[in-house]
Amino acid sequence: MKTMGLIGGMSWESSAVYYSLVNQEIRRRLGKSHSASCVLWSFDFQEIEDLQYAGKWDLLRDRMYDAGRGLKAAGADFAVLCTNTMHKVMDSFEADVGIPLLHIVDAAGEAIQADGKTRIGLLGTKFTMEGSFYADRLRDRFGLEVLTPGPEDRATVNDIIYKELVRGVVDELSRRKYEAIIDGLAARGAQGVVLGCTEIGLLVKEHACTLYDTTLLHARQAVSYALGG
Ligand code: GLU
Repeated sequence: MKTMGLIGGMSWESSAVYYSLVNQEIRRRLGKSHSASCVLWSFDFQEIEDLQYAGKWDLLRDRMYDAGRGLKAAGADFAVLCTNTMHKVMDSFEADVGIPLLHIVDAAGEAIQADGKTRIGLLGTKFTMEGSFYADRLRDRFGLEVLTPGPEDRATVNDIIYKELVRGVVDELSRRKYEAIIDGLAARGAQGVVLGCTEIGLLVKEHACTLYDTTLLHARQAVSYALGG
């Protein structure tokens, strides 16, 4: 089994889910007392959030790549960045750090493509919904049309992530707001919705519309790669 390097703490609420999922999935596939071979780098998320809101993406890139180097030195064979948003700065990670990165958008794109869907909704932080790095990769690599909520709903989705979910707050009213926003995307023709923030699955677990939970898909992708991909 290859050793995975988890770059986490963004937030630790979802990193804990990753850690649990990769171990459960290894046990499911290998049985007996097997568990994942992994190392975890966990950031103080407040520092990351402050840099994101200040637009200091170059500094954030340095932080992510330094974490990757640390994980490589600790024995990681490949890296898994346990957040969607920070994939914004990962384009030269493999070349600079020298280990493969399993890209979270590819985990989502492959699952959507396997289901034969072509038009998809996207929820995530404002950086993920409004930047081009995420939707472009879904379109260019997987031929998907990507719909995002309107400005007011994007602000709601973003605020619930930063003010509640990364702080461990799971609120019923916020769940209903998310469900209504997902309904709105489906009414506009989305055949499924990407939960493109690793904490959303803590709030919304099921819906009449097909949900692509990036935390789950990415963790499974990591296990497949560790076991032979
Ligand atoms: N974990 C979230 C994501 O998947 C948001 C936190 C962050 O900005 O890194 O995008």
